[in-house]
Amino acid sequence: MPGALVSLVLVDGTLLVQCTVKDADQAAELAGGLVISGPRAVTKAQELRARGYERPVLCDAQLYAGNHRKPARAAFDRTWLLCQQGRVLTDSGYVAKLDIRGLQTILHRTMRLGPGFIATLPLHADWLKVQQDREILLHEVAFAEVPIAVALEHAADPLGVRAVVTGLLELLSVGVPVVLLRSDVSALGALCHGAMAAAVGTTTGLRHIYPVSTGGGFHRPAVAAFSPHFLSYVSVDKLAAAVQLTPDLSHLWECECTTCNGRTLDWLATAPSVAFRHSLELMGLLRDQLLSVPERALAWRERCNMAAALHTEIQAELPDWRTPPFLNAWRYASTPSSINLP
Ligand SMILES: [Zn+2]
Repeated sequence: MPGALVSLVLVDGTLLVQCTVKDADQAAELAGGLVISGPRAVTKAQELRARGYERPVLCDAQLYAGNHRKPARAAFDRTWLLCQQGRVLTDSGYVAKLDIRGLQTILHRTMRLGPGFIATLPLHADWLKVQQDREILLHEVAFAEVPIAVALEHAADPLGVRAVVTGLLELLSVGVPVVLLRSDVSALGALCHGAMAAAVGTTTGLRHIYPVSTGGGFHRPAVAAFSPHFLSYVSVDKLAAAVQLTPDLSHLWECECTTCNGRTLDWLATAPSVAFRHSLELMGLLRDQLLSVPERALAWRERCNMAAALHTEIQAELPDWRTPPFLNAWRYASTPSSINLP
């Protein structure tokens, strides 16, 4: 059975990094904890533990993704559940729109597993977006009273849709521990609204669940770097163009992180692998700032407002610059009454 090592405890407000087995060593140095993804995740987690890694590690089987995804009603794999230490994510299948039986199956099986297990809920975005679906989800989650880990399906950014953010905020107010998997900068928003933990994917493919593909080419995602001013990941190519075209805005482009060491962000275009390190350090610092104040939800919304204003400003100089939809989704999402925003 899973051991109860103190070092593995997932404390409230943990910013995790979701990565592949291949990226786990690099991510481990920088992250508050890891979500290692894929069938070999447990082996990698055991290897990290054996080397003395003491931060939380969750293993995501991610059987819910891809064109041959496991359905929600399929059984859990006992080997997967029982060979891990600490908190264990169930190896759940995908919960399609209105697959209520599938949703209940995952939650009820997790109830029977007992403490230490987290029900992984890989959801069609309508479970949060559509009010009727959302009410079913909230009812089932409140009934089960087990910790849940949510991953959302979308072709781009599920939390770029205002109604999905509204649904997430309602889910966070149910009162069960929630981990947000496969996220982006919105992981910080979730932490500010009470998520137990939230994971930022190291690549675009680990920042949401892609819908089933009907063919077509695979587009290699552009390397992007996090900018705290813009509260966004921006492609390094776009950053390089911005640095050159707006020398008067150098305060936006110079970075004091230990990787950049005062350089302007265009240097990341020539060294994209270090963009990863830069982004994780700055996301971690911003997480610490946001969670250090009592009014975290308000602090997050203020950051979103400031960043949106800056995006608008830069668009005047760089017409193809675009404001990421999640900023406005968070700014204008409805908040449940239990979250007090003025
Ligand atoms: Zn930097």
